[in-house]
Amino acid sequence: MLIDLRSDTVTRPTPGMKEAMFSAPVGDDVFGEDPTVNALEEKIANLFGMEAALFCPSGTMTNQIAIRLHTGPQREVICHQYSHIYLYEGGGIMANSLASVKLLTGDLGKITAAQVAESINPDDVHAPETTLVSLENTMNKGGGSIYTLEEIKPIHSLCKEKGIKLHLDGARLFNALVETGESPADWGAHFDTISICLSKGLGCPIGSVLLGSKVDIKRARKVRKVFGGGMRQAGFLAAAGIYALDHHVERLKEDHSRARTLGEMLSKLPVVSEIFPVSTNIVIARLEGTTPEEFMKKLAEQDIKSVKFGKDLVRFVTHLDFGDEHLEEFGRRIGKI
Ligand SMILES: *Cc1c(COP(=O)(O)O)cnc(C)c1O
Repeated sequence: MLIDLRSDTVTRPTPGMKEAMFSAPVGDDVFGEDPTVNALEEKIANLFGMEAALFCPSGTMTNQIAIRLHTGPQREVICHQYSHIYLYEGGGIMANSLASVKLLTGDLGKITAAQVAESINPDDVHAPETTLVSLENTMNKGGGSIYTLEEIKPIHSLCKEKGIKLHLDGARLFNALVETGESPADWGAHFDTISICLSKGLGCPIGSVLLGSKVDIKRARKVRKVFGGGMRQAGFLAAAGIYALDHHVERLKEDHSRARTLGEMLSKLPVVSEIFPVSTNIVIARLEGTTPEEFMKKLAEQDIKSVKFGKDLVRFVTHLDFGDEHLEEFGRRIGKI
């Protein structure tokens, strides 16, 4: 039995999800005529109390569309140095929007309003204009760390006061919400745009959604077209998203509890010097006396897959296809290395 912990993107659709997909009514979404895509967009916009939503093939696309909406040449986005938008989107901030980036540091991948305040450029001929702050929740590189709404509020107020847009890379926002008990609508009220991945913990084969105002989402639809993301009978995919919102949100807690146990198991290995605090479904282990390559090779010999996440770091992500039986088996196998 393969134990694949590289990412929560490795899941296969469940039988119930497949049934929902194959029975979905569809139409041409580029004409705005796919009833299932429209239903997903309306459902998720309502959930977050936001005006509109746009279904896209990937979270990279939803983030990059948002960056395009809120920046441009000679403009700047402020984000943490470990942000997905900066590290893992192929240099898209520059390639797609010709914008500049200001990178901040901060514990577990998080930044504060005070740091943002210091980083907003003055109205000066030498400086790019700060037009966007982008946050990530949960924070992948921070080990799935969580921002609470209380931490967001001062950043939101600051951005409002300065006329700066606030975007959330909420690829795993639902992982945070099931832990804090905060509502999607509370989050919707504090951001101009939010990107949500359906293909991570929620278990869909494809898909992300961008949330925003009617005006922004109308513009976003044009940007999606030029990025090549206008899809036709995409309702088959959107149906998976609707199914996931109905069936796969609360269960994220199970992934979190398995991640905590997995972290405890790993922490007992002599080569593991530290486990980042496990808040959600991501476990990052720091190694000592071995390299990620060597450690991952030993794991691979036991049919366990993980990813290198830094010069002495390895990441494990729990998900829908990692059950209690996999967790027990993981414990047995790492006992042998
Ligand atoms: C996965 C992920 C994305 C989007 O990735 P895609 O693979 O393009 O869907 C964006 N942000 C974070 C934090 C992610 O983990």
